[in-house]
Parts: sequence; structure tokens; C-alpha cells
Amino acid sequence: MNTLTVTFARGARRVTGSNFLIEAKSDTATTRILVDCGLAQGERYCESVNKQKFSYDPATVEAIFFTHAHEDHIGLFPKLVKEGFKGDAYATAPTKALMPIMLQDSGHIIADEAKRCGDEAPYSPEDTERAVGMVNELEYGKTLAVGKNVAVTLYNAGHIIGSASVLIEAFGKRLVFTGDLGRVPAVLVPEREVPQNIDYLFMESVYGNRVHESIEESVDLLHASVQETRRKNGVLLIPAFSLERTQIILSALDTMFTKDSALAMPVFLDSPLATKVTKVYERYPEFIREEIRVKMKNGDDPFSFASLRITENVEESKTIERVANPKIIIAGAGMSHGGRIRTHEAHYLGATSTTLLISGYQVAGSLGRRLQDGATKINIDGSSISVRAQVKSLDGFSAHADRNDLLEYVEAMNPKEVFTILGETASATFLAQRIQGFLDIPVSVPREGESVELIGRK
Ligand SMILES: [Zn+2]
Repeated sequence: MNTLTVTFARGARRVTGSNFLIEAKSDTATTRILVDCGLAQGERYCESVNKQKFSYDPATVEAIFFTHAHEDHIGLFPKLVKEGFKGDAYATAPTKALMPIMLQDSGHIIADEAKRCGDEAPYSPEDTERAVGMVNELEYGKTLAVGKNVAVTLYNAGHIIGSASVLIEAFGKRLVFTGDLGRVPAVLVPEREVPQNIDYLFMESVYGNRVHESIEESVDLLHASVQETRRKNGVLLIPAFSLERTQIILSALDTMFTKDSALAMPVFLDSPLATKVTKVYERYPEFIREEIRVKMKNGDDPFSFASLRITENVEESKTIERVANPKIIIAGAGMSHGGRIRTHEAHYLGATSTTLLISGYQVAGSLGRRLQDGATKINIDGSSISVRAQVKSLDGFSAHADRNDLLEYVEAMNPKEVFTILGETASATFLAQRIQGFLDIPVSVPREGESVELIGRK
């Protein structure tokens, strides 16, 4: 008898740590594949679930498919390889190009965190090199057979460059894992595709209970913040996510300064990671929305402008302080949990002329979340700071679908059953209730470690 089982290894009732095991078993063969192998974020490595062993034997997995290059979808792949994975790995061309950049970065952070609590790093730079060497390119829309029982096709998820939803076919059943889905319309990438005739949908729910402001509202807020920074002769700090958000912000500033050159001021992109990532965007114009692609073809780089300064090393980063105000500093990490932004925050958050512009999701426990929640006293790497800066949040530049985008996706697909994943419990549950209530489709909110059998299910 055939069985088709999905195990929510991680990434259920949790935004990050995406990792799902699909097992297709017939009398003669078993095919095991994974969707994503991501890092759970929000806690330091030593206290986190990332330290635990995988709940399955990596050596028995035949193939892994990556939805996109954010760390919470790829970050534990080197650990998977170290612990015995020998199969094939697949991703779109931009995801493959971004993986070594992103993994090198997160590998350093994890190794430092592990060292601090007297642990060994979970994997070495050599493991990362081996892992990225295993990745093959897979185009959108091209179906790949895996083992005897499974076929896989990637669809554009419209989230970030090269992002994909994964369609898995086995024993006549059609399953979709959305990965992270983008907004409609997306800012930089072409709009998501919605696969059809789907039985089971494994649906992200990161913003299952939230509505984003419009892109125009965010452009206006960014514009107002730049104007205010000029008026107060202050500093605009933008803790930015290196992948997609930074490129969205750069392209918005490019457009703003082109329209109103009197507003232009020095902008420091103080993130080697974001700088490398931006180069990948410049290399794959075919994965960018048409209007922007046309601009690029005409030689207008949407991610660059005259007052942009790219700092290469820590020494250059330190000289930013000496540049007269007003100025804008874009630095990682996006949740202020690491990276160069912390040095700038320590230096500038005490001043009333500073504006801190938070640009996306802030996980509970991160410094960014505490600032967003209105903390007035914070501690950055040992120094205590009284926050006098204005703190604003901008969420229209989010690369994530909001609750309306998500519901429209489910409606356009009309699957037989839905499982909401990749969201905190409140968000996953809220979206589940809406899908059930508005679309009358049965929905479950699985827990980590749980498995579901899909053959013989109503
Ligand atoms: Zn993502």
C-alpha cells in the first residue's frame, strides 16, 4: 500500500526554521525529500532549537528543494550535509547564487555564538562550501522526477528574487509548499504564480493576522523621514534586511532623489552582505519586474545613485561618524540583533535628532522588537543607552504577503485542504479561521514534530 506522509520537522507555529519532510512510500521504493532546511531565529544559537539533532536521518533523504535564500529557509543546510545528507539539492539560479553569500554570513554568526557559550560550531566553513557545491539550478515550471515516486516543479512565489513555491506530485496527489509568498503587487519581483488543481496546500502564515500599509504609504513615510532628518540636521538609521528589503529601500531612495535632488544627502550602505546581495540582483534582471528590468537595460541602475557610499570594511564604517549630518545609514541586521547597525544605534539612539526606521518583521526577543515596543533604556554590547530617538516602523516594503494577499492566494488555488505553517500560533490560527470561514476549506494548524498521512484522507 502507498503512503504519503508530511512531517512538520520545524517551521510550524513558528515563522522561521522552515523544514518539512515528505515521504512517499510504495511497496518497492521509498522517496524522501525535504523542502527547506532553515535556521530558527530569535534566540542565540546556544539556547535555540538549531542545536538539536534533526528528527530524521539526513542520510536517507534523496533530495532537498529550497524555496528561497533567506537564512530561515537555508541556514541549517551545511549542518544537514555535515550530519550525512548526500542527496541532490535544487534551487532557482538566483537562490543558488545567493546561498554561498547568505550561508557564509550566518555561519560566522552561529560559530561566534557557539564559541561564546563554550560550544563547538555546528558546522565548519568547509561544510558550507561542500553544501553549496551540491546545489543544482532548477527553472520555474520545469518538472523534475525524484526517485520512483515523486515529481517536483517550482513556481514563482513573488517574495524575493528567485523565490519559489514547491509543487510535489506523488501517487496522484498534488501538494504545494508555498515557502514565503510576496505581496501583490510585489515591489521588485514579478508577481507570484498560483498552481492549480491542488489537493493539499501547506500555506505560510507569517502575516496571517496583519494588514500591511500600502507601498505608497511606506514611500511617503520614508520621504517624510528623510525630510525631517534634513530639517533636524540629524541621522536616519535604517536597520535593513540584506536580502530584498535593502534593495527595495535603495530603489525607493534612487527614485526619491531623482525626483527631488534638493533632498539628496549622503547614504551609507554599511553592510558588506547587502552589497554582495545587490550585485546578484544586478546579475539576474530576468527575475526582476518588468518596469525595473527595462530601466536596468537602459543602463539606469535602480540600486545606485550619486550620494550612495558603500563602506567595504570596519575601518571605513568607523569614519561614517565623522561625516557631517544630515545622513542616512543603512546597515544590517534588520532586527538589530547583530551586525554594524548596533554600533550606529549605540552612537545615535541617544539623540532626539535621530530617527530609527524599522523596516520589517521583528522577532520577539530581538533588540529591534524591544525598540519597536517603545523601550527607553537598552543595552548594546555592554553599554547602556537612553533612547531619545524617534522610532518609526514601515511595513509597506515588506516582501511578505499580508493576510488579504494570503487569503486571495488560497481562494485562487481552491485546494481541498490547507495546513497553515510558518507563522506564530496566533497568526497561523487566525489565517486558518479565515480560510475556513470565508472559503469553507478545512484547515489544520500543525505542531512541530507532527506528521500527517495524505493517502486515504478525505
Ligand atoms: Zn523569506
